[in-house]
Amino acid sequence: MTFLRLLARNRLALAGLVVMAAVVALALVTPLLPLAPPNVTDTGNRFLPPFSEGAPLGTDHLGRDLLSRLLWGTRLSLAVGFAAALIAAVLGAAIGIVAGYYRGRIDNVVMRGVDMLMAFPYILLALAIVAALGPGLMNALIAVAAVNVPFFARNIRGITVGIANKEFVDAARLSGLSDARIILTEVLPNVVPVIVIAMSTTVGWMILETAGLSFLGLGSQPPVADLGSMLGEARSALITNPHTSVVPGLMILVIVMAINLLGDGVRDALDPRLRSGALSRPMAATRVDRGDRVPPPADPEAVLALEGLETQFHVGKRVFRAVGGVDLSVKPGECLGIIGESGSGKSVTALSVMGLVPSPPGVITAGAARFRGEDLVGMPYGRLREKRGRSVAYIFQDPLATLHPLYRVGDQLVEAIRAHRPIGRAEGRARAVELLRAVRIPNPEDRVSNYPHEMSGGMRQRVGIAMALANDPDVIIADEPTTALDVTVQAQILSLLDDLRRSRGLAIVFITHDFGVVGQLCDRVAVMYAGRIVEEGPTRAILETPRHPYTARLIDCVPELGQGRRRLEAIPGLPPAVDRLPEGCAFAERCRNARPDCRAGDIPLEREGTRAVRCLHPETHPEREAAE
Ligand code: ADP
Ligand code: MG
Repeated sequence: MTFLRLLARNRLALAGLVVMAAVVALALVTPLLPLAPPNVTDTGNRFLPPFSEGAPLGTDHLGRDLLSRLLWGTRLSLAVGFAAALIAAVLGAAIGIVAGYYRGRIDNVVMRGVDMLMAFPYILLALAIVAALGPGLMNALIAVAAVNVPFFARNIRGITVGIANKEFVDAARLSGLSDARIILTEVLPNVVPVIVIAMSTTVGWMILETAGLSFLGLGSQPPVADLGSMLGEARSALITNPHTSVVPGLMILVIVMAINLLGDGVRDALDPRLRSGALSRPMAATRVDRGDRVPPPADPEAVLALEGLETQFHVGKRVFRAVGGVDLSVKPGECLGIIGESGSGKSVTALSVMGLVPSPPGVITAGAARFRGEDLVGMPYGRLREKRGRSVAYIFQDPLATLHPLYRVGDQLVEAIRAHRPIGRAEGRARAVELLRAVRIPNPEDRVSNYPHEMSGGMRQRVGIAMALANDPDVIIADEPTTALDVTVQAQILSLLDDLRRSRGLAIVFITHDFGVVGQLCDRVAVMYAGRIVEEGPTRAILETPRHPYTARLIDCVPELGQGRRRLEAIPGLPPAVDRLPEGCAFAERCRNARPDCRAGDIPLEREGTRAVRCLHPETHPEREAAE
């Protein structure tokens, strides 16, 4: 189970778990152990030191066996601490969910009550409750639970407010579910992890608070002892017979330490955001493990050249070959398209260039990415950071996800510049306005102080492009920058990119899954399938005479205006999983030209003039080729 694996990765949490399991096990079997009765006094044997005959931990001021009292006391303290935590969590969560779900007046009344409880100092409130109810372990439990209810109520209310406004709750409402059903089936499962996390981090506190009340004589009543009252009784003999206080004191220390360490581990392992990989702390740059598999530089004219690049994901024993030896290059002012179905390895190729693939699990296992002849793969991190955004910049698919929602776009532009050179306030603002103007945002003077949510999708993508331009890079890698936009806005963005590369001599690597877009923008195109380039060449030539059957099928997928009667083709089947790539051509399964020899041995990328294709039985175009 992932939860246990993640927990086990955290050494301290694991130690806490082991200690806690041992303590709980001891507490559970205490009644079965051959211990002296804990509450029988024997004044003849007062204050026996530890390791005495018949009393391994010694005896207390009434001659009672300390080991026996310690184990019984631990049992009691644990039971009270956990019970208090459970009660506080259930009550607090119920209050929080109701207040957060219904909002309005219920929320106001309930939460102001909770605020009043919170306004009292913690321990004073507990003391007041016990004073009102009378001393006793049960009342101490109630007091400790009561003072912790507000903590849970506040936390859970906050989470619930966020969840109650989500679309899936609206959908549940629209489908006619009752409020009770929605709370139970939609809201509760989403807050349970938070409740568990809050509990795991507060149980230790509650045990301490119960011990504190018992220490003051308000909790467990003599002769029955919990850890707190054992400490309290030992107080008068603290100097003369320290072992009577050290024994319960150490136990409290061990329990609370273990619970807190474990609680931290549980919190980290349960948090879905941490679980998705943040716990394994990705490295600053992708791990490189390519030995001597570094090809020599090939294309001296290229501003950016990938040579035999291989990027894999190592997940447990499985190896995902996301990029399996890619050769590509762009010259200044050139636009290279990379096209392929979703999952074909386009993004991983692009991210590998600047070491942005998260590691673990990503590893670059072979090849080089040369920027003006200098290999970026395996470059020292400091130097790589200087190049990020400055030599090679990225534009991503979803600008709403890449822009910080709480900062004005102008400030974010200035931040991108500041990453590479110091710039004053006024100069920064002027530069931001200038950048926004360069990407043709109307009224850039006003727009710089907009927040991302105040802009439309196309406008935000323009800001994304402006950010990529901020440091005058030589290469821009655009990863499906128009996929989230509608067609008219897409056309504007494409023409903007085209102008920019012509006026600034930018090299653009444009990633897309749409041949229509490639046709509008790119000089050359590389077709990717299952992590490899299967065909490459000038865009026009490829569009007119595709050689690889996969390219031909992709082109058939593009609708043409006014060609309504042509049948739109879909490619049957799915791309292969990259951890189980077949022998030979990865496309053979879905290919109409496939023969037995396609499924045996590696198929090389054959170059012929400006074009290259990785296929044994390419498509033929007799009429077209005769015309040429
Ligand atoms: P696309 O061409 O759509 O941009 P990607 O480059 O994002 O495709 O993904 C290429 C392949 O790498 C996919 O098969 C994907 O399953 C795999 N992959 C991506 N990230 C990971 C990861 N963190 N762990 C394992 N496999 C991954
Ligand atoms: Mg992608």
